[in-house]
Amino acid sequence: MNFVSTRDARLTNESVSPACAIKRGIAINGGLYMPGHIPTLSADDLKAMRTMSYPECAAKIISMYLSDYTYEELLEDANNAYSTERFPNGAIGMRDIDNGKFFLELWHGPTCAFKDMALQIMPRLLSRALKKTAEDREAVILVATSGDTGKAALEGYCDVDGINIEVFYPAGGVSKVQEMQMVTQKGKNVNVAAVNGNFDDAQGEVKRIFIDKAFVKEMNEKGYFLTSANSINFGRLVPQIVYYVFAYLRLIEEQGAEIGKEVDICVPTGNFGNILAAYMAKRMGLPFRKFICASNENNILTDFINTGVYDKNRDFKLTISPSMDILVSSNLERLLYLIAGDEKVRLWMRDLRSERGAYTVDEETLAAIKTEFCGYFCSEDNTKATIKKYFDEHGYLMDTHTAVAAYCADKFREENGSDVPMIIASTASPFKFAQGVYGALTGNVPEDAVKALDMLADISGQAIPAPLSTAVNSDVRFTEKIDVSSMRDSVRNFLNK
Ligand SMILES: *Cc1c(COP(=O)(O)O)cnc(C)c1O
Repeated sequence: MNFVSTRDARLTNESVSPACAIKRGIAINGGLYMPGHIPTLSADDLKAMRTMSYPECAAKIISMYLSDYTYEELLEDANNAYSTERFPNGAIGMRDIDNGKFFLELWHGPTCAFKDMALQIMPRLLSRALKKTAEDREAVILVATSGDTGKAALEGYCDVDGINIEVFYPAGGVSKVQEMQMVTQKGKNVNVAAVNGNFDDAQGEVKRIFIDKAFVKEMNEKGYFLTSANSINFGRLVPQIVYYVFAYLRLIEEQGAEIGKEVDICVPTGNFGNILAAYMAKRMGLPFRKFICASNENNILTDFINTGVYDKNRDFKLTISPSMDILVSSNLERLLYLIAGDEKVRLWMRDLRSERGAYTVDEETLAAIKTEFCGYFCSEDNTKATIKKYFDEHGYLMDTHTAVAAYCADKFREENGSDVPMIIASTASPFKFAQGVYGALTGNVPEDAVKALDMLADISGQAIPAPLSTAVNSDVRFTEKIDVSSMRDSVRNFLNK
Protein backbone atom coordinates (compact mmCIF):
# COMPACT_ATOMS: atom_id res chain seq x y z
CA MET A 1 0.00 0.00 0.00
CA ASN A 2 1.28 3.47 -0.87
CA PHE A 3 0.60 6.76 0.84
CA VAL A 4 -0.45 9.99 -0.85
CA SER A 5 -0.96 13.60 0.17
CA THR A 6 -4.36 15.02 1.16
CA ARG A 7 -3.59 18.06 -1.00
CA ASP A 8 -3.86 17.07 -4.61
CA ALA A 9 -1.17 14.43 -4.88
CA ARG A 10 -1.39 14.56 -8.68
CA LEU A 11 0.31 17.94 -8.68
CA THR A 12 3.41 16.64 -6.92
CA ASN A 13 2.91 13.03 -7.93
CA GLU A 14 4.07 11.95 -4.52
CA SER A 15 3.35 8.37 -3.57
CA VAL A 16 5.51 6.83 -0.85
CA SER A 17 5.86 3.63 1.13
CA PRO A 18 4.28 3.44 4.62
CA ALA A 19 7.73 3.53 6.24
CA CYS A 20 8.61 6.64 4.29
CA ALA A 21 5.33 8.33 5.26
CA ILE A 22 6.10 7.66 8.92
CA LYS A 23 9.67 8.91 8.61
CA ARG A 24 8.69 12.13 6.83
CA GLY A 25 5.57 12.87 8.90
CA ILE A 26 4.21 15.49 6.51
CA ALA A 27 3.90 15.31 2.73
CA ILE A 28 6.15 17.41 0.53
CA ASN A 29 3.31 19.71 -0.57
CA GLY A 30 2.34 20.39 3.04
CA GLY A 31 -0.55 17.91 3.07
CA LEU A 32 -0.99 14.92 5.35
CA TYR A 33 -0.27 11.37 4.29
CA MET A 34 -3.20 9.01 3.74
CA PRO A 35 -3.24 5.38 2.61
CA GLY A 36 -4.11 4.81 -1.06
CA HIS A 37 -7.23 2.93 0.06
CA ILE A 38 -8.83 1.93 3.35
CA PRO A 39 -8.56 -1.81 4.02
CA THR A 40 -11.70 -3.58 5.24
CA LEU A 41 -12.62 -6.07 7.94
CA SER A 42 -15.51 -8.41 7.14
CA ALA A 43 -17.92 -9.72 9.78
CA ASP A 44 -15.98 -12.99 9.69
CA ASP A 45 -12.70 -11.15 10.28
CA LEU A 46 -14.26 -9.41 13.26
CA LYS A 47 -15.58 -12.69 14.62
CA ALA A 48 -12.12 -14.17 14.43
CA MET A 49 -10.71 -11.15 16.24
CA ARG A 50 -12.96 -11.60 19.29
CA THR A 51 -10.44 -13.83 21.03
CA MET A 52 -7.39 -11.73 20.17
CA SER A 53 -5.37 -9.92 22.82
CA TYR A 54 -4.94 -6.18 22.47
CA PRO A 55 -1.43 -6.49 20.98
CA GLU A 56 -2.63 -9.12 18.50
CA CYS A 57 -5.51 -6.92 17.46
CA ALA A 58 -3.09 -3.98 17.10
CA ALA A 59 -0.64 -5.99 14.96
CA LYS A 60 -3.48 -7.24 12.75
CA ILE A 61 -4.97 -3.81 12.08
CA ILE A 62 -1.71 -1.89 11.74
CA SER A 63 -0.34 -4.51 9.33
CA MET A 64 -3.30 -3.85 7.01
CA TYR A 65 -2.01 -0.29 6.54
CA LEU A 66 1.76 -0.62 6.96
CA SER A 67 2.32 -3.18 4.23
CA ASP A 68 6.11 -2.93 4.39
CA TYR A 69 6.12 -4.06 8.03
CA THR A 70 5.59 -7.74 8.79
CA TYR A 71 2.90 -8.96 11.18
CA GLU A 72 5.66 -10.43 13.38
CA GLU A 73 7.47 -7.07 13.60
CA LEU A 74 4.27 -5.32 14.52
CA LEU A 75 3.32 -7.95 17.07
CA GLU A 76 6.70 -7.57 18.74
CA ASP A 77 6.26 -3.79 18.85
CA ALA A 78 2.68 -4.04 20.13
CA ASN A 79 3.67 -6.55 22.81
CA ASN A 80 6.36 -4.18 24.04
CA ALA A 81 4.20 -1.07 23.76
CA TYR A 82 1.16 -2.47 25.58
CA SER A 83 3.03 -4.71 28.06
CA THR A 84 1.69 -5.29 31.57
CA GLU A 85 4.65 -3.31 32.83
CA ARG A 86 3.39 -0.24 30.97
CA PHE A 87 -0.34 -0.98 31.22
CA PRO A 88 -0.73 -2.91 34.50
CA ASN A 89 -4.54 -2.89 34.25
CA GLY A 90 -4.76 -3.81 30.57
CA ALA A 91 -4.51 -1.60 27.51
CA ILE A 92 -8.03 -0.15 27.84
CA GLY A 93 -10.91 -0.05 30.31
CA MET A 94 -14.62 -0.29 29.38
CA ARG A 95 -17.04 0.96 32.02
CA ASP A 96 -20.78 0.55 31.47
CA ILE A 97 -21.97 3.43 33.59
CA ASP A 98 -25.53 4.34 32.78
CA ASN A 99 -27.98 2.80 30.36
CA GLY A 100 -25.59 1.60 27.67
CA LYS A 101 -23.05 4.38 27.95
CA PHE A 102 -19.66 2.73 27.82
CA PHE A 103 -16.73 4.85 28.92
CA LEU A 104 -13.74 3.67 26.94
CA GLU A 105 -10.86 4.45 29.30
CA LEU A 106 -7.75 5.14 27.27
CA TRP A 107 -5.56 6.33 30.12
CA HIS A 108 -4.22 3.19 31.74
CA GLY A 109 -0.75 3.80 30.29
CA PRO A 110 2.45 5.28 31.71
CA THR A 111 1.41 8.96 31.59
CA CYS A 112 -2.28 8.50 32.47
CA ALA A 113 -3.57 10.11 29.25
CA PHE A 114 -4.85 8.69 25.98
CA LYS A 115 -1.86 9.91 23.99
CA ASP A 116 0.02 6.91 25.38
CA MET A 117 -2.12 4.61 23.22
CA ALA A 118 -0.36 5.97 20.13
CA LEU A 119 2.89 7.29 21.57
CA GLN A 120 3.87 3.97 23.12
CA ILE A 121 3.99 2.25 19.73
CA MET A 122 4.65 5.08 17.25
CA PRO A 123 8.37 5.46 18.19
CA ARG A 124 8.89 1.76 17.52
CA LEU A 125 7.26 2.20 14.10
CA LEU A 126 9.57 5.14 13.42
CA SER A 127 12.65 3.25 14.55
CA ARG A 128 11.80 0.47 12.07
CA ALA A 129 11.01 3.04 9.37
CA LEU A 130 14.58 4.34 9.63
CA LYS A 131 15.94 0.86 8.96
CA LYS A 132 13.42 0.10 6.20
CA THR A 133 14.30 3.30 4.35
CA ALA A 134 18.06 2.70 4.87
CA GLU A 135 18.34 5.95 6.79
CA ASP A 136 21.84 6.27 8.18
CA ARG A 137 21.21 9.41 10.25
CA GLU A 138 19.64 9.43 13.70
CA ALA A 139 16.32 11.22 14.24
CA VAL A 140 16.09 14.22 16.55
CA ILE A 141 12.56 14.87 17.75
CA LEU A 142 11.88 18.40 18.98
CA VAL A 143 8.69 19.00 20.93
CA ALA A 144 7.26 22.19 22.36
CA THR A 145 4.60 21.30 24.89
CA SER A 146 1.98 23.00 26.99
CA GLY A 147 2.08 19.98 29.29
CA ASP A 148 0.66 16.62 28.26
CA THR A 149 2.17 15.78 24.90
CA GLY A 150 5.70 16.39 26.18
CA LYS A 151 5.55 13.72 28.83
CA ALA A 152 3.77 11.18 26.62
CA ALA A 153 6.38 11.72 23.90
CA LEU A 154 9.31 11.42 26.36
CA GLU A 155 7.90 8.21 27.75
CA GLY A 156 7.29 6.79 24.27
CA TYR A 157 10.66 7.68 22.72
CA CYS A 158 12.77 6.96 25.80
CA ASP A 159 15.56 4.51 24.91
CA VAL A 160 14.24 3.80 21.39
CA ASP A 161 17.10 3.03 18.97
CA GLY A 162 18.23 5.66 16.51
CA ILE A 163 16.06 8.43 18.00
CA ASN A 164 16.78 11.37 20.31
CA ILE A 165 14.16 13.62 21.83
CA GLU A 166 14.25 17.06 23.41
CA VAL A 167 11.17 18.64 24.99
CA PHE A 168 10.79 22.38 25.63
CA TYR A 169 8.12 23.61 28.00
CA PRO A 170 7.27 27.17 29.08
CA ALA A 171 8.86 27.90 32.49
CA GLY A 172 6.00 28.47 34.91
CA GLY A 173 3.52 27.62 32.16
CA VAL A 174 2.71 24.02 33.05
CA SER A 175 1.30 22.53 36.23
CA LYS A 176 3.67 21.33 38.97
CA VAL A 177 2.66 17.71 38.34
CA GLN A 178 3.26 18.04 34.59
CA GLU A 179 6.65 19.63 35.24
CA MET A 180 7.67 16.88 37.66
CA GLN A 181 6.57 14.24 35.16
CA MET A 182 8.93 15.74 32.59
CA VAL A 183 11.97 16.73 34.65
CA THR A 184 12.17 13.30 36.31
CA GLN A 185 12.11 11.46 32.95
CA LYS A 186 14.56 8.57 32.64
CA GLY A 187 16.38 7.41 29.50
CA LYS A 188 19.71 8.14 27.81
CA ASN A 189 18.30 9.70 24.62
CA VAL A 190 16.10 12.36 26.24
CA ASN A 191 16.53 16.01 27.24
CA VAL A 192 14.12 18.47 28.81
CA ALA A 193 14.47 22.25 29.07
CA ALA A 194 12.30 24.98 30.56
CA VAL A 195 12.08 28.01 28.30
CA ASN A 196 11.56 31.60 29.48
CA GLY A 197 8.38 32.60 27.69
CA ASN A 198 4.98 31.11 27.00
CA PHE A 199 3.97 28.06 24.97
CA ASP A 200 3.69 30.03 21.73
CA ASP A 201 7.24 31.37 22.17
CA ALA A 202 8.62 27.85 22.55
CA GLN A 203 6.43 26.44 19.78
CA GLY A 204 7.31 29.30 17.42
CA GLU A 205 11.03 28.73 17.93
CA VAL A 206 10.73 24.98 17.37
CA LYS A 207 8.97 25.73 14.08
CA ARG A 208 11.74 28.17 13.12
CA ILE A 209 14.41 25.62 13.99
CA PHE A 210 12.75 23.05 11.70
CA ILE A 211 13.06 25.39 8.71
CA ASP A 212 16.45 26.92 9.65
CA LYS A 213 18.50 25.73 6.67
CA ALA A 214 21.87 26.34 8.32
CA PHE A 215 20.89 24.41 11.42
CA VAL A 216 19.37 21.56 9.40
CA LYS A 217 22.61 21.38 7.40
CA GLU A 218 24.73 21.42 10.55
CA MET A 219 22.64 18.58 11.99
CA ASN A 220 22.87 16.66 8.74
CA GLU A 221 26.67 16.92 8.78
CA LYS A 222 26.68 15.55 12.31
CA GLY A 223 24.48 12.62 11.21
CA TYR A 224 21.07 13.81 12.42
CA PHE A 225 17.75 14.86 10.90
CA LEU A 226 14.99 16.77 12.66
CA THR A 227 11.42 15.54 12.93
CA SER A 228 8.35 16.09 15.07
CA ALA A 229 6.12 13.86 17.18
CA ASN A 230 2.77 15.52 16.64
CA SER A 231 -0.48 13.92 15.64
CA ILE A 232 -0.29 14.69 11.94
CA ASN A 233 2.00 11.67 11.54
CA PHE A 234 0.05 8.68 10.25
CA GLY A 235 2.05 6.53 12.68
CA ARG A 236 0.13 8.20 15.48
CA LEU A 237 -3.25 7.79 13.84
CA VAL A 238 -3.24 4.11 12.95
CA PRO A 239 -2.74 2.79 16.52
CA GLN A 240 -5.85 4.73 17.52
CA ILE A 241 -8.08 2.77 15.14
CA VAL A 242 -7.22 -0.34 17.13
CA TYR A 243 -8.98 0.58 20.36
CA TYR A 244 -12.26 1.34 18.63
CA VAL A 245 -12.28 -2.11 17.06
CA PHE A 246 -11.18 -3.75 20.31
CA ALA A 247 -13.76 -1.80 22.33
CA TYR A 248 -16.54 -2.72 19.91
CA LEU A 249 -15.73 -6.40 20.30
CA ARG A 250 -15.80 -6.03 24.11
CA LEU A 251 -19.14 -4.24 23.93
CA ILE A 252 -20.64 -7.00 21.79
CA GLU A 253 -19.38 -9.55 24.28
CA GLU A 254 -20.71 -7.68 27.29
CA GLN A 255 -24.14 -7.14 25.74
CA GLY A 256 -24.34 -10.68 24.40
CA ALA A 257 -25.02 -9.11 21.00
CA GLU A 258 -24.05 -10.05 17.47
CA ILE A 259 -21.43 -8.42 15.30
CA GLY A 260 -23.29 -5.85 13.24
CA LYS A 261 -25.09 -4.23 16.18
CA GLU A 262 -24.86 -0.47 15.75
CA VAL A 263 -23.22 1.83 18.28
CA ASP A 264 -22.69 5.58 18.52
CA ILE A 265 -19.29 7.08 19.31
CA CYS A 266 -18.63 10.26 21.28
CA VAL A 267 -15.13 11.76 21.44
CA PRO A 268 -13.76 14.82 23.29
CA THR A 269 -11.99 16.49 20.41
CA GLY A 270 -9.04 18.82 19.96
CA ASN A 271 -6.87 18.10 16.96
CA PHE A 272 -9.47 15.66 15.52
CA GLY A 273 -7.08 12.68 15.60
CA ASN A 274 -9.01 10.50 18.01
CA ILE A 275 -12.43 10.91 16.40
CA LEU A 276 -10.94 10.49 12.92
CA ALA A 277 -9.55 7.12 14.00
CA ALA A 278 -13.09 6.09 14.98
CA TYR A 279 -14.38 7.21 11.60
CA MET A 280 -11.66 5.22 9.85
CA ALA A 281 -12.73 2.16 11.83
CA LYS A 282 -16.20 2.68 10.36
CA ARG A 283 -14.80 2.90 6.86
CA MET A 284 -13.03 -0.41 7.60
CA GLY A 285 -16.41 -2.01 8.29
CA LEU A 286 -17.30 -1.36 11.95
CA PRO A 287 -21.03 -0.63 12.41
CA PHE A 288 -20.65 2.82 13.94
CA ARG A 289 -23.77 4.94 13.49
CA LYS A 290 -23.16 8.53 14.52
CA PHE A 291 -19.97 10.30 15.63
CA ILE A 292 -20.52 12.94 18.28
CA CYS A 293 -17.75 15.50 18.09
CA ALA A 294 -17.52 17.05 21.58
CA SER A 295 -15.79 20.41 22.02
CA ASN A 296 -15.21 22.74 24.95
CA GLU A 297 -15.77 26.50 24.68
CA ASN A 298 -13.26 26.55 21.81
CA ASN A 299 -16.14 25.32 19.66
CA ILE A 300 -14.84 25.90 16.17
CA LEU A 301 -15.66 22.29 15.20
CA THR A 302 -19.24 22.55 16.47
CA ASP A 303 -19.74 25.58 14.26
CA PHE A 304 -18.08 23.85 11.32
CA ILE A 305 -20.24 20.73 11.51
CA ASN A 306 -23.37 22.87 11.79
CA THR A 307 -22.58 25.47 9.12
CA GLY A 308 -19.80 24.20 6.85
CA VAL A 309 -17.69 27.28 7.65
CA TYR A 310 -14.36 26.72 9.36
CA ASP A 311 -13.33 30.12 10.66
CA LYS A 312 -10.32 30.50 12.93
CA ASN A 313 -10.88 34.22 13.46
CA ARG A 314 -12.10 34.00 17.02
CA ASP A 315 -10.83 34.34 20.57
CA PHE A 316 -8.78 31.53 21.98
CA LYS A 317 -10.14 30.48 25.38
CA LEU A 318 -8.21 28.89 28.22
CA THR A 319 -10.38 26.16 29.75
CA ILE A 320 -10.14 23.43 32.38
CA SER A 321 -9.87 20.92 29.52
CA PRO A 322 -6.64 22.42 28.10
CA SER A 323 -5.76 19.53 25.76
CA MET A 324 -8.79 20.55 23.68
CA ASP A 325 -7.94 24.27 23.60
CA ILE A 326 -7.20 24.45 19.91
CA LEU A 327 -8.28 26.54 16.94
CA VAL A 328 -6.87 24.60 14.02
CA SER A 329 -7.70 20.89 14.18
CA SER A 330 -5.10 19.48 11.79
CA ASN A 331 -6.62 16.06 11.31
CA LEU A 332 -9.92 17.47 10.06
CA GLU A 333 -8.03 17.75 6.77
CA ARG A 334 -7.96 13.96 6.58
CA LEU A 335 -11.73 13.70 7.04
CA LEU A 336 -12.28 16.26 4.29
CA TYR A 337 -9.95 14.29 2.05
CA LEU A 338 -11.93 11.08 2.62
CA ILE A 339 -15.26 12.82 2.03
CA ALA A 340 -14.49 15.41 -0.66
CA GLY A 341 -11.16 14.46 -2.23
CA ASP A 342 -7.72 16.00 -2.52
CA GLU A 343 -8.42 18.72 -5.09
CA LYS A 344 -10.98 20.44 -2.89
CA VAL A 345 -8.87 19.99 0.23
CA ARG A 346 -5.95 21.79 -1.38
CA LEU A 347 -8.10 24.85 -2.05
CA TRP A 348 -9.71 24.88 1.39
CA MET A 349 -6.36 24.65 3.14
CA ARG A 350 -5.11 27.49 0.98
CA ASP A 351 -8.09 29.59 2.11
CA LEU A 352 -7.35 28.73 5.74
CA ARG A 353 -3.75 29.88 5.39
CA SER A 354 -4.75 33.00 3.47
CA GLU A 355 -5.68 36.34 4.99
CA ARG A 356 -9.28 35.14 5.25
CA GLY A 357 -8.24 32.46 7.76
CA ALA A 358 -11.35 30.45 6.95
CA TYR A 359 -12.91 28.14 4.38
CA THR A 360 -16.41 27.11 3.43
CA VAL A 361 -17.17 23.63 2.18
CA ASP A 362 -19.77 23.02 -0.52
CA GLU A 363 -23.29 21.81 0.30
CA GLU A 364 -22.69 18.27 -0.84
CA THR A 365 -19.66 17.92 1.43
CA LEU A 366 -21.51 19.46 4.37
CA ALA A 367 -24.43 17.08 3.89
CA ALA A 368 -22.06 14.10 3.79
CA ILE A 369 -20.38 15.29 7.01
CA LYS A 370 -23.74 15.76 8.70
CA THR A 371 -24.92 12.24 7.97
CA GLU A 372 -21.92 10.92 9.91
CA PHE A 373 -21.13 13.61 12.51
CA CYS A 374 -22.95 15.71 15.08
CA GLY A 375 -21.20 18.61 16.79
CA TYR A 376 -21.93 19.74 20.35
CA PHE A 377 -19.99 21.82 22.82
CA CYS A 378 -19.87 22.07 26.59
CA SER A 379 -19.36 25.25 28.64
CA GLU A 380 -17.00 25.44 31.62
CA ASP A 381 -19.93 25.40 34.06
CA ASN A 382 -21.46 22.36 32.39
CA THR A 383 -18.10 20.57 32.43
CA LYS A 384 -17.91 20.99 36.20
CA ALA A 385 -21.57 20.10 36.71
CA THR A 386 -21.12 16.91 34.66
CA ILE A 387 -18.15 15.76 36.75
CA LYS A 388 -20.18 16.30 39.90
CA LYS A 389 -23.33 14.68 38.53
CA TYR A 390 -21.63 11.47 37.41
CA PHE A 391 -19.73 11.22 40.67
CA ASP A 392 -22.81 11.85 42.82
CA GLU A 393 -25.19 9.68 40.80
CA HIS A 394 -22.94 6.85 39.62
CA GLY A 395 -19.82 7.06 41.80
CA TYR A 396 -17.89 7.49 38.54
CA LEU A 397 -15.03 9.96 38.61
CA MET A 398 -13.99 11.48 35.30
CA ASP A 399 -11.52 14.10 34.18
CA THR A 400 -12.43 17.45 32.64
CA HIS A 401 -12.00 16.33 29.00
CA THR A 402 -14.10 13.23 29.43
CA ALA A 403 -16.76 15.37 31.11
CA VAL A 404 -17.06 17.48 27.97
CA ALA A 405 -17.80 14.28 26.04
CA ALA A 406 -20.21 12.92 28.66
CA TYR A 407 -22.20 16.17 28.56
CA CYS A 408 -22.37 16.14 24.75
CA ALA A 409 -23.30 12.44 24.72
CA ASP A 410 -26.20 13.12 27.08
CA LYS A 411 -27.34 16.05 25.00
CA PHE A 412 -27.26 13.93 21.85
CA ARG A 413 -29.32 11.24 23.56
CA GLU A 414 -31.87 13.79 24.81
CA GLU A 415 -32.40 14.92 21.23
CA ASN A 416 -32.09 11.58 19.45
CA GLY A 417 -33.03 8.88 21.93
CA SER A 418 -30.85 6.20 23.47
CA ASP A 419 -31.85 3.17 21.44
CA VAL A 420 -28.24 2.43 20.49
CA PRO A 421 -25.32 1.89 22.90
CA MET A 422 -22.72 4.62 22.98
CA ILE A 423 -18.96 4.42 23.36
CA ILE A 424 -17.61 7.57 25.02
CA ALA A 425 -13.86 8.06 24.79
CA SER A 426 -12.39 8.81 28.22
CA THR A 427 -9.09 10.49 27.52
CA ALA A 428 -7.35 11.17 30.84
CA SER A 429 -7.22 9.93 34.39
CA PRO A 430 -9.16 12.30 36.66
CA PHE A 431 -5.95 12.63 38.68
CA LYS A 432 -4.13 14.05 35.70
CA PHE A 433 -6.38 17.12 36.05
CA ALA A 434 -6.86 16.90 39.79
CA GLN A 435 -7.22 20.64 40.39
CA GLY A 436 -10.09 21.01 37.94
CA VAL A 437 -11.80 17.81 39.06
CA TYR A 438 -11.51 18.62 42.77
CA GLY A 439 -12.79 22.11 42.03
CA ALA A 440 -15.80 20.66 40.19
CA LEU A 441 -16.66 18.40 43.10
CA THR A 442 -16.22 20.93 45.92
CA GLY A 443 -16.30 24.42 44.44
CA ASN A 444 -12.76 25.05 45.72
CA VAL A 445 -9.85 24.80 43.30
CA PRO A 446 -6.65 23.76 45.14
CA GLU A 447 -3.77 26.12 44.40
CA ASP A 448 -1.10 23.44 44.55
CA ALA A 449 -1.31 20.74 41.86
CA VAL A 450 0.65 18.24 43.94
CA LYS A 451 -1.55 18.68 47.02
CA ALA A 452 -4.60 18.41 44.77
CA LEU A 453 -3.67 14.78 44.09
CA ASP A 454 -3.99 13.90 47.78
CA MET A 455 -7.11 15.97 48.20
CA LEU A 456 -8.80 14.24 45.26
CA ALA A 457 -7.74 10.82 46.57
CA ASP A 458 -9.27 11.71 49.95
CA ILE A 459 -12.69 12.76 48.78
CA SER A 460 -13.01 10.18 45.99
CA GLY A 461 -11.68 7.22 47.94
CA GLN A 462 -9.56 6.32 44.88
CA ALA A 463 -5.80 5.83 44.81
CA ILE A 464 -3.49 8.23 42.97
CA PRO A 465 -2.25 6.36 39.85
CA ALA A 466 1.28 5.08 40.40
CA PRO A 467 2.90 6.99 37.48
CA LEU A 468 1.71 10.31 38.95
CA SER A 469 2.71 9.61 42.55
CA THR A 470 6.08 8.30 41.35
CA ALA A 471 6.70 11.44 39.29
CA VAL A 472 6.02 13.86 42.14
CA ASN A 473 8.26 11.84 44.47
CA SER A 474 11.22 11.24 42.12
CA ASP A 475 14.51 13.11 41.93
CA VAL A 476 14.69 15.99 39.50
CA ARG A 477 17.05 15.17 36.65
CA PHE A 478 16.67 18.16 34.29
CA THR A 479 17.12 21.71 35.57
CA GLU A 480 18.06 23.56 32.38
CA LYS A 481 16.25 26.91 32.14
CA ILE A 482 17.01 28.86 28.98
CA ASP A 483 15.97 31.74 26.80
CA VAL A 484 14.26 31.07 23.49
CA SER A 485 17.43 32.24 21.72
CA SER A 486 19.41 29.38 23.33
CA MET A 487 17.21 26.51 22.18
CA ARG A 488 19.53 25.57 19.30
CA ASP A 489 22.50 25.48 21.68
CA SER A 490 20.55 23.30 24.03
CA VAL A 491 20.00 20.79 21.21
CA ARG A 492 23.70 20.94 20.27
CA ASN A 493 24.85 20.34 23.85
CA PHE A 494 22.39 17.50 24.31
CA LEU A 495 23.59 15.72 21.16
CA ASN A 496 27.27 16.26 22.00
CA LYS A 497 26.93 14.47 25.30
C1 LIG B 1 -5.01 15.29 23.13
C2 LIG B 1 -6.19 15.13 24.02
C3 LIG B 1 -7.52 15.26 23.55
C4 LIG B 1 -7.83 15.63 22.10
O1 LIG B 1 -7.57 14.57 21.21
P1 LIG B 1 -7.43 14.88 19.64
O2 LIG B 1 -7.00 13.59 19.03
O3 LIG B 1 -6.39 15.94 19.54
O4 LIG B 1 -8.76 15.33 19.15
C5 LIG B 1 -8.57 15.07 24.43
N1 LIG B 1 -8.33 14.79 25.74
C6 LIG B 1 -7.09 14.66 26.23
C7 LIG B 1 -6.90 14.38 27.67
C8 LIG B 1 -5.97 14.81 25.40
O5 LIG B 1 -4.74 14.70 25.91
